[in-house]
Amino acid sequence: MPELRPELFAAPELLLAPERMMLGNGCESGLALAIRRGVIAEVGQREAVAAHHADLVTQYLPGHLVMPGFIDAHHHLTQSFGKALAFGEPSEIFRRIWIPLEGSLDVNGVYLASKLAALEALRGGFTTVVDAGTRSEADAATIASATRETGLRCVLGFICNDLGGTAGARDQNAILRAAEQHLARWHNDDLVHPSLAISIPEAATDAMLHRVVRLAAEAGAIFQTHVNEHLVAVERSLVERSLRPLQHLAAVDALGPNVLIAHSTLITPAELMLLARTDTAVAYNPVASTWKGNAVAPAEMMAELGVRFALGTDGTRSDAFRLVEAAETLQRIAFGIGVGDFSCGAGWTWLEHATHAAADAIGLKGMTGEIAAGRAADLLVIDIAGPEFTPSWDLDWELVRFGNRDQIVAVLVAGRLRLWRGWPVDWDAQALIDEVKALAADAVAKAPIKRIHPVSREHRTTHSRPSGKRT
Ligand SMILES: [Zn+2]
Repeated sequence: MPELRPELFAAPELLLAPERMMLGNGCESGLALAIRRGVIAEVGQREAVAAHHADLVTQYLPGHLVMPGFIDAHHHLTQSFGKALAFGEPSEIFRRIWIPLEGSLDVNGVYLASKLAALEALRGGFTTVVDAGTRSEADAATIASATRETGLRCVLGFICNDLGGTAGARDQNAILRAAEQHLARWHNDDLVHPSLAISIPEAATDAMLHRVVRLAAEAGAIFQTHVNEHLVAVERSLVERSLRPLQHLAAVDALGPNVLIAHSTLITPAELMLLARTDTAVAYNPVASTWKGNAVAPAEMMAELGVRFALGTDGTRSDAFRLVEAAETLQRIAFGIGVGDFSCGAGWTWLEHATHAAADAIGLKGMTGEIAAGRAADLLVIDIAGPEFTPSWDLDWELVRFGNRDQIVAVLVAGRLRLWRGWPVDWDAQALIDEVKALAADAVAKAPIKRIHPVSREHRTTHSRPSGKRT
């Protein structure tokens, strides 16, 4: 098989005929797609598409799958200097690590952290990420310039907390004016889509929660918040409000089709029905549950009840194939094993909720997340000729269980080739990595971070097991 070359994807208009193509019903053969001005112009049988686009040369891609780029519905781009600092930490890491880290980054630090995270996202197969908003004082434009330079599509949150904890209340009108500016600034942008956020319900007054959700809805934007993730937060809300966090949002009319709830892992049957009734969307973050959660969101149940949801990393690990695999595995461990559910979504459920169902949940339905005429050409070219997919009996499910970042040959966003075999084609990623290495240690050292858990090596030396004593 001839080796694919990046030049093949360099043209602004393309006609691709891969061996397989992932459409809404799964991976199919014999199809082609035409890309014009960054948008998928037509998808159909090869001969028909070629006939309608006779000015384009058909690029045959044997041994390759073209699929929609993955969507990460919950990320914190400005936390990428932290990474393993959160390993082993008990819940509410944001208080001890993320807020201190983000709060101490200067503008250059915010820019570099965001660009590093955007690079990781693209390498991991994500063409869109939803950023939940930074707690740093930096302008959202700093994050936007970082994501734009990499080519990553970004739903960019702007935090509207009016209760600053010990800092006291902030001026609501000033926050709302800034929120309006944020919505207007990115209103028609090709790669940045504005969103409003309140970190957790208790970080805002009831009036603010209600107004920010409405403001976002009027602008056609999504509102994001973290809800029902940790026991301690649920209990705090119960003590202070006699309501669980999700019930609290419902009580102030802050749920609805433009609301994206991160986590919802600690969820009662009544709350599940509340999500379904209000058409509120959820970011299911399986790796976050594994690393730091108190529970696993009942995503398969949500799918059955018609609750819209998408998969998110929560900034844990930007690897889309490992995310969909975790999505399946956690449903199986948390819910499937006990009831003999060996199917647990049959693979396709997790691909769907990482692509076109995800686009719906994050407010970009009709724009990205699927290979269909009129959608942005946000695509991955995957090598399916290797041993992992040979022999192939069920490519959709195989992608969930055998898929790997190394198999991603090309990443296109809005029709433009951004990564080739994991590396950018038009900017120097190594220079960015070198710059981050030089800066991150200092940035972390000066942040007032409080870690509870030691690093692995330190844990080994202080943690003696009976078996160790015997030797
Ligand atoms: Zn989060």
